[in-house]
Amino acid sequence: MPRLHLNLHRVCCRPPSSSFSARLPPVFARALFHSTLSSHSPPSTSTSSPTPTSAGTVAPQVIFSAIQPTGAPHLGNYLGALRQWVKLQNEALPETTLLYSVADLHAITLRQDPSILREWRKQMLASLIAVGLDPKRSIIFHQSAIPAHSELHWILSCNASMGYLSRMTQWKSKMALPENANPLDTSSKAKLKLGLFSYPVLQAADILIHRATHVPVGADQTQHLEYAREVASGFNHLHTPILTLPSTILSPAKRIMSLTQPLKKMSKSDPDPKSRILITDTHATIKRKIKSALTDSIEGITYDPVTRPGVSNLIEMMYCMDESVAESPVLLANELKDLSMRALKEKVADTIELHIRDVRERYESIVFGDAKVLMDINEEGVRKAKQSADATLKLVREAIGLD
Ligand code: ATP
Ligand code: MG
Repeated sequence: MPRLHLNLHRVCCRPPSSSFSARLPPVFARALFHSTLSSHSPPSTSTSSPTPTSAGTVAPQVIFSAIQPTGAPHLGNYLGALRQWVKLQNEALPETTLLYSVADLHAITLRQDPSILREWRKQMLASLIAVGLDPKRSIIFHQSAIPAHSELHWILSCNASMGYLSRMTQWKSKMALPENANPLDTSSKAKLKLGLFSYPVLQAADILIHRATHVPVGADQTQHLEYAREVASGFNHLHTPILTLPSTILSPAKRIMSLTQPLKKMSKSDPDPKSRILITDTHATIKRKIKSALTDSIEGITYDPVTRPGVSNLIEMMYCMDESVAESPVLLANELKDLSMRALKEKVADTIELHIRDVRERYESIVFGDAKVLMDINEEGVRKAKQSADATLKLVREAIGLD
């Protein structure tokens, strides 16, 4: 049903200030869930309606996702994940649990300066509140404060296949190795750390420890979600069916590309700060970065991610920031077809500024406000997340004979 999808896409792209507070009618909200679930989702969990259990009762949904404190969130994080988290929060049924984590244990899979990491952990918490997460409704916490994440990681590692993990792309991309790299190649072996290699097992533990039914992420995480389902079904098969197979929720802005290398995704860990727009950037910085974005010298504006990745990424960002500008990126490009590259860049920068300004201002007031506010939010989140994680860990320990 393409028409329905188009409408839903437009709803997904609205900024928090305009529509995030408005609740959709339940039927519409349910349809949205169906339309954005990844095709990888197992049929048993691919619905937003409460899931029937074997006992005939209904299990409420649990939504979980996380972001690494490896720098301020960029537009890829915002459009691909954070804005979707807020939308899900604002539309969730009262019985739905929402958990959003600052994945600090993942951040240390690459070397971090302790004082910078300490700052980034706080700033990421502030960013989550600034984009519109409500600590009274969503459980917001630092991953490392819940030991059960690490304990389940170890338990799952004991049955994790090296072969499967070696095919995952994350460690290769973080080490800038080719797609066909093998962990035992001499070039990889010397530099590859165990933590980076087993990162997907920790990510599976993060999701499974809360028995999440739905995980909203960008497209780069679909492989990891697939792995989390494999791990859960392997455990359930080997022991007792305790773990929930999570469904992936992909935002319409699945993959925002780097401004400097538009064939690569925008990333916090890219060494070039000009490759990304941060949600904390000023209007002047946004203009400067967009102005220096790599495009091409073809005359006129068109949307074609294969032959014109740089221009198409700019169109995509503008479209996703403000869905009221057109029906689709192709139609938006058509409306702008006669603009010069310079004029297009100015329009894109102004659209981003218009829709990110509120987030930036909220972020500044939190970061420069009372530090205790953030500490209290984390403390409360940790208390609730611990209850959720400990309940699963108890069942897992019983199932494997560690009780
Ligand atoms: P790092 O470079 O440190 O891995 P990152 O920018 O990839 O940082 P993560 O913390 O790994 O960000 O991911 C947080 C969320 O943002 C995930 O759901 C991920 O799928 C999503 N995400 C990251 N980059 C993009 C992007 N360019 N487009 C869309 N979604 C993205
Ligand atoms: Mg990442």
